Amino acid sequence: MSLFFLLILIGVAIFFYRRWAKKQRRLSLLSSRITDHQRDVIGRCVPMVQKIPTEFHRPLEGKINLFLDQVTMVGYHGLEVTEEMELSIATQACLLVMNTNAWYDTLTTVMIYPGAFKSKTARHDGFVVTEKETVRTGESWNRGPVILSWTHSNDGALDTGDGHNVVLHEFAHQLDERSGRADGAPVLRRGQDFSTWEAVFLAAFDRLDDRVSRGLPTVMDAYGTENHQEFFAVGVETFFESPIELKRAEPAFYEQLSELLGLDPASWT
Ligand SMILES: [Zn+2]
Repeated sequence: MSLFFLLILIGVAIFFYRRWAKKQRRLSLLSSRITDHQRDVIGRCVPMVQKIPTEFHRPLEGKINLFLDQVTMVGYHGLEVTEEMELSIATQACLLVMNTNAWYDTLTTVMIYPGAFKSKTARHDGFVVTEKETVRTGESWNRGPVILSWTHSNDGALDTGDGHNVVLHEFAHQLDERSGRADGAPVLRRGQDFSTWEAVFLAAFDRLDDRVSRGLPTVMDAYGTENHQEFFAVGVETFFESPIELKRAEPAFYEQLSELLGLDPASWT
C-alpha cells in the first residue's frame, strides 16, 4: 500500500472516530444529571421549572448539560457572565426542546449585554440601502448566535405569568430557523400534518391581527402581528407563560404548539 493511501485511510479513520466520540459524548451528556447546587440555582432563577411534571426533569437536565457543553456565553459592555446567567439561559432555552428531538445544532454562542442594546438593520429599497438603529432586548441570527439583554432575560424568567419571556422568544426563532429560514413554519414533529399547521397558524394570525387593529384585548402580544415569524415566537412565549388563556382563546393553535413541542403546559399545576 502506498504511503498516500495509508494517509487517506488514517484520515478517514480519524474522521469516523471523532464523529463516534462526539456522538458518545452527546449521549453521555443527555443522560447526565445536574448537581443539587445547580438545581437550587435554577429553582430560584427559573421558577417555571417548579411546575414541570417530574417525567421531564431528567431529559431537561441532560439537555441543560448538553447546552452548557456546546454553547459559550460571552458578556459584552463589561458584563461578567455568572453561573446563574448560564444556568438561567440554558434552562429557558431547553424548556422548548425538553420533549422533542429538535436541537440547536448550529448554535455555539450566546452574547449577553447587561441591558437593552442597539442593533443596526439594513433596509433595501431598490438600489438604496438605509441603515436603521433600533434598541432591542434580544435577537436571534440564522444558525446562531442568540443575543440577549440579561436584565430582560432575568426579569422574564422570574415573572412566569406576564406573557413575556425574551429567552423563550429568541429560542423559538432558533427552532423556526431550523427549517432554513424563520417564517413561522418550523420543522414539524414527525407525523404532524403541515397543511393543518398552516391553516391553523394563518387563521390565528388573522384573528390576532383583526383584534389588534380593532383595539380589542388579546392574549398574545400585539407584536405577533408584525409578521409570521414574530407570531410564532410570541405564540411560543404565550404557550409557556399564559397556557390556559391561550388554550381558551386559540384552542387549535395551542393544540398545534402542544404537538410540536410535545408539552401541555395548560395542565401543569
Ligand atoms: Zn422576534
